Amino acid sequence: MADCVFCKIVAGEVPAAFVYQDELVVAFRDVAPQAPTHIVVTPRRHVAGADALEPADEALVGRMALVAARLARELGVAADGYRLVVNAGRHGGQVVPHLHLHLLAGRPLAAEMG
Ligand code: AMP
Repeated sequence: MADCVFCKIVAGEVPAAFVYQDELVVAFRDVAPQAPTHIVVTPRRHVAGADALEPADEALVGRMALVAARLARELGVAADGYRLVVNAGRHGGQVVPHLHLHLLAGRPLAAEMG
């Protein structure tokens, strides 16, 4: 999608600090980290958000979750724990209209739920 920053990152038109790439998803460090470890896992294909998901996207969503968990282990934050967040829509706080999963870790996060 022409004006989508995550599509531009996937296409290499906007730089990003990639930590993972496969045929379905890419992962990179968030430019404005909310925690010592803050990774964004996002589909290569443009999906506007959680509300745009279809049954055929089941494998894609599964891949996003598995990649996030794998990265948490590889980045050494799994033992202490982490948070996986999908913001959806205006009230959900979604700013970038391209589906993505946040992996947040490296400090206690529990008090911020809700
Ligand atoms: P959300 O509020 O769930 O839509 O989150 C969007 C996230 O994308 C925010 O945490 C931003 O800091 C992050 N972000 C926006 N532009 C970039 C970029 N060019 N590279 C890395 N992360 C970005």
